[in-house]
Amino acid sequence: MRILVVEDDAVLVDVLQHALRRAGYVVDACRDGVAADAALADPAYDLVILDLGLPRRDGFEVLRALRQRKPVPPVLVLTARDALADRVRGLDLGADDYMVKPFDLPELEARIRALVRRTHAAAPEIALGPLRFDLAARRMTLEGSDLDLSQREYALLEALLLRAGQVVGKDQLVDKLCSRDEAVGTNAIEVYIHRLRKKIEPAGIRIKTVRGMGYLLEKPGE
Ligand code: CA
Repeated sequence: MRILVVEDDAVLVDVLQHALRRAGYVVDACRDGVAADAALADPAYDLVILDLGLPRRDGFEVLRALRQRKPVPPVLVLTARDALADRVRGLDLGADDYMVKPFDLPELEARIRALVRRTHAAAPEIALGPLRFDLAARRMTLEGSDLDLSQREYALLEALLLRAGQVVGKDQLVDKLCSRDEAVGTNAIEVYIHRLRKKIEPAGIRIKTVRGMGYLLEKPGE
């Protein structure tokens, strides 16, 4: 799950990046609205945390531009202004939730989980044979036990599971696994796939290599 944080307060950006990475998300940050517009041209983001008072282009403009894109990721607006008018305007422009600064990190994390759950309401838990994935709780179990995965392995398996039975390109996997400031190539993906296979194949879950295209998480019985 990859999140874009758009916030001009450097200290807050550091706090958010640290907390969200610890929670297992891949996180990028932008410090102004123009950079945010450019970043959001990339459909890799699953969620946006957006401050309203931003340099160069405010959060309302970013929201308006974002609504023209498809698919539109859920947006959690952060703002120091708790004026009702701002809240209404933000929601009118398509914000999915709202938090007034200062806020508690556990509360922010809970709101993120709720947004993710709502976005994937049709599949709050994905099951693939003995593998079970609770998207909102960010928990994977295999044959009833917690699957011990590194952050990268988790992100990789999540990306494959959300599109089980379809080929997912290496480039798409790189997009889901790495923030902009981490240079990870497609070779690294092969290493993570190898580790992941060792953990899940004994239970009969197979990741097929589709040469020249990418990987496919096989549905049991196919
Ligand atoms: Ca601000």
